[in-house]
Amino acid sequence: MAKAPKTDESPETQMARLILALRSQGVTEPGVLNAIEKTPRDLFTPDLFKERSWEDSALPIACGQTISQPFIVGLMTQALTLEPRSRVLEIGTGSGYQTAILSRVARLVYTVERYRTLMKEAETRFAVLGLTNVITKFGDGGEGWAEQAPFDRILVTAAAPDEPKTLLNQLKPNGVLVAPVGKGPVQSLKRYAGDGQGGFKVEVLCDVRFVPLLDGVAREL
Ligand code: SAH
Repeated sequence: MAKAPKTDESPETQMARLILALRSQGVTEPGVLNAIEKTPRDLFTPDLFKERSWEDSALPIACGQTISQPFIVGLMTQALTLEPRSRVLEIGTGSGYQTAILSRVARLVYTVERYRTLMKEAETRFAVLGLTNVITKFGDGGEGWAEQAPFDRILVTAAAPDEPKTLLNQLKPNGVLVAPVGKGPVQSLKRYAGDGQGGFKVEVLCDVRFVPLLDGVAREL
């Protein structure tokens, strides 16, 4: 993990430190590192945690959710093996940080969030950054996005209790799905690679801690 940055360092210095930390942990794909470097994470963090935006750690956001750790964002994006023509489905928009990274590496990103508040805030950020290839939806991502399926890639950024079958069904035969899978506080980050015949090669990448994938949309006051 990156050392806590000294607050008198410029964002550029802190970003350089973060990129070095990701590289040393195995995030080496130039397209992925470039996307992280080009995306100002402080746009996605709440005021209370702004100065910690360049730390390699997850941070709290509204609605009791979290913005993912940059290393995990890099690792998951790299594991997707995106191509410039890829259409990607992301479940769990949250702050929109991971979405922004995906949008710089893929052709189109469809993203679903169950909190309307988070969805609206993320949409504003995409507009500020001029990301025009992101399509948002307020809904239950566990159901995927049938009207837009099949997808080349699917990324789940909340923990699925079991194998995410509904989502795997919305993947192209040679597609890739990456998701944290497990019911406890620590889950396995899994990569499902379609074998072209309806089956999957499943790989466990590492242990992760994600908020759970919940059923239905959130009721907000
Ligand atoms: N990638 C995000 C991580 C957000 S945390 C970021 O970097 O900011 C996971 C998000 O998944 C939360 O916002 C949570 O509300 C959302 N989520 C959980 N279950 C969901 C579901 N069934 N459908 C859509 N979003 C869901």
